[in-house]
Amino acid sequence: MPDTSTPQSWEARAEAASFYGFTDLPTIHERGTVVLTHGEGPYVVDVQGRRYLDANSGLWNMVAGFDHPGLAAAAKAQYDRFPGYHAFFGRMSDQTVMLSEKLIEVSPFARGKVFYTNSGSEANDTLVKMLWFLNRAEGRPQARKILTRKNSYHGVTVVSASMTGKPYNDVFGLPLDGFIHLGCPHYWREGRDGESEADYTARLGAELEDTIAREGAASIAAFVAEPVMGAGGVIVPPEGYFQTIAPILKRHGIPLVSDEVICGFGRTGAVWGCQSLDFMPDAIIASKAMTAGYFPMGAVILGPDLADRMQDAAEAIEEFPHGFTASGHPVGCAIALKAIDVILNEGLLDNVRALTPRFEAGMARLAQMDHIGEARGMGLMGALEAVQDKAGKVPFDGSLSVSERIANASTDAGLICRPLGQAVVLCPPFIMTDAQMDEMFEKLEQALTRVF
Ligand code: PLP
Repeated sequence: MPDTSTPQSWEARAEAASFYGFTDLPTIHERGTVVLTHGEGPYVVDVQGRRYLDANSGLWNMVAGFDHPGLAAAAKAQYDRFPGYHAFFGRMSDQTVMLSEKLIEVSPFARGKVFYTNSGSEANDTLVKMLWFLNRAEGRPQARKILTRKNSYHGVTVVSASMTGKPYNDVFGLPLDGFIHLGCPHYWREGRDGESEADYTARLGAELEDTIAREGAASIAAFVAEPVMGAGGVIVPPEGYFQTIAPILKRHGIPLVSDEVICGFGRTGAVWGCQSLDFMPDAIIASKAMTAGYFPMGAVILGPDLADRMQDAAEAIEEFPHGFTASGHPVGCAIALKAIDVILNEGLLDNVRALTPRFEAGMARLAQMDHIGEARGMGLMGALEAVQDKAGKVPFDGSLSVSERIANASTDAGLICRPLGQAVVLCPPFIMTDAQMDEMFEKLEQALTRVF
């Protein structure tokens, strides 16, 4: 008979009642779930009172930490004033109006238009629907194909998962037809023997040209790319990558969309990843740090050309028939206005820039370890790629990936970091202090030493 006299643990209750996504189930069965109750700055605390330094910023989003008083106050004030509304049927909240103005102001576009969603996935879905709508309205209904890259991550809805270049979507029978994945811009892993970085960039440019020639430019709706790939394992593209592909796309009249769900609002050291990598997109997908993670929200920000054409297309049939119940939610907008202010005007972006050399030095130090093949990153996003054999770049094998083992050892050491493929990813909150960053690397070093 099971002992029913003792209350079930939080771990058991979590497993009994929750269906887990993006979680290695054997690991959970063995180790249990870390059930969290609250946060303090960049730390989170579990039901046992254990503190973890969250080098993952939640899921790349909690850039202002977990107890920012200004963000909580902005939420409370707006909940008190006007707790919820949509942005349709001729009504929208004042906060929504102000946020759209702010997003255009801080975007790289001189002018544009914003459409709100509840997540990054929905923003990518919305973008694709916008382009399909636009192309039909402009008499090009066949222009539907979407180009992205292998290993990219754009979300989990049927369309955004089809855009995503990860093999795990096979289990859903995705991608849908018409979603084409080009080469992953990871020189260290994909570059051929003797091929220079510039040669690799040229090869990716040639692949894009060939794909457009094969598929037909008139059948392609957009090329969508993260400036620095996030969930692909923090892949910084090779030198000249966007400078090579942007003119090819322009020549063929194919919009270039920057999926800035991770890079946007400071992660790479500029407001936008496209600014760090010096290219001008036709539209931006934003989410995550836009509300510092304090509200689920995403946005499609159209630059001037797409904004004008979308407006004309919508005017022609008098309505763009799309939107979510909570699109432009006033509490989300009030939080986003505060988050953008906190990031840009209260020193968070400055702190990203100030901390970056320390972050790079910490990464470079760990890259000396025998089983770290590559340390890569930009701003406050980085990855350490674990390898069995450094010279041959030979990955580890085994049923539990090496990065999963590192992440588990980190958790034991009081650090949360993200296993991705064979890499362990760091994307600390922008509020970290020098001492907290040192603590992050010390704990990660302990974990790596234990696993290697
Ligand atoms: N695009 C990128 C680049 C992302 O990293 C993510 C999520 O991590 C998404 C889109 C999807 O956003 P969400 O999880 O909010 O749907």
